[in-house]
Amino acid sequence: MGETTNDSDRGISRRALFIGGAAAAVGTAVLARDELARLWWRTPGVEKPRKEGEVDFGGAHWVAASSANWRRADRPDDFGIDRVIIHVTQGSFKSAVKVFQDPGHGAAAHYIVGKDGRITQMIRELDVAFHAGNREFNERSVGIEHEGFVDRPQDFTDAMYEASARLTARICARYDISIDREHIIGHVEVPGTDHTDPGPHWDWGRYIPLVRAAAKRDAERTADPSTGPSTGPSGGATAASKSTPAAERDA
Ligand SMILES: [Zn+2]
Repeated sequence: MGETTNDSDRGISRRALFIGGAAAAVGTAVLARDELARLWWRTPGVEKPRKEGEVDFGGAHWVAASSANWRRADRPDDFGIDRVIIHVTQGSFKSAVKVFQDPGHGAAAHYIVGKDGRITQMIRELDVAFHAGNREFNERSVGIEHEGFVDRPQDFTDAMYEASARLTARICARYDISIDREHIIGHVEVPGTDHTDPGPHWDWGRYIPLVRAAAKRDAERTADPSTGPSTGPSGGATAASKSTPAAERDA
């Protein structure tokens, strides 16, 4: 063919290439973005970013538990979280921190709440803490220890109830857990446990309304619809069969 045709052909093909290429590039970018948003956290080997010392509850102070006392996970994407489990340490705040740092202890909870209302986080909510003495309940729950002894009602102070209720309210909001006694349970209620904590002096009739009140305050504070909903549940646990190298004892 002639020169004009050649030019014309080249022009068309170049234009077609440009349009096609641009469309392909845009398509790929959109697809990639959507895929990333949807699949990023579920891709094997890709975990949520973590920062040293980061806490899940704003008011908590971070002290890392021994890695022997918990199992790395990527909750709520690998395991859904639908329970908060209440414990009592049977000892001081300091001794609880110490044993959770001890690799030989084989158990630890995510949080410890002190009589003075201070909160220490020792395991990320992303991870499975060995606190319930029941693998399934460990995987589906966040464990909160409270300083004191089950037979000493005076250990359960106003400051402790208030701080713990604020913490539990946030956990329930994060994972869309109902604030009731079916979902906020004592260690004693975990199937198969021989632990009795938090014991008969833990005042559930007081605690649950405190959690509800804290949740209401949080909801009112964050009522601005432009902020959007917080991260909801991931649609239930996928029951990924991960190995459990360490014993999951009770805390
Ligand atoms: Zn316990």
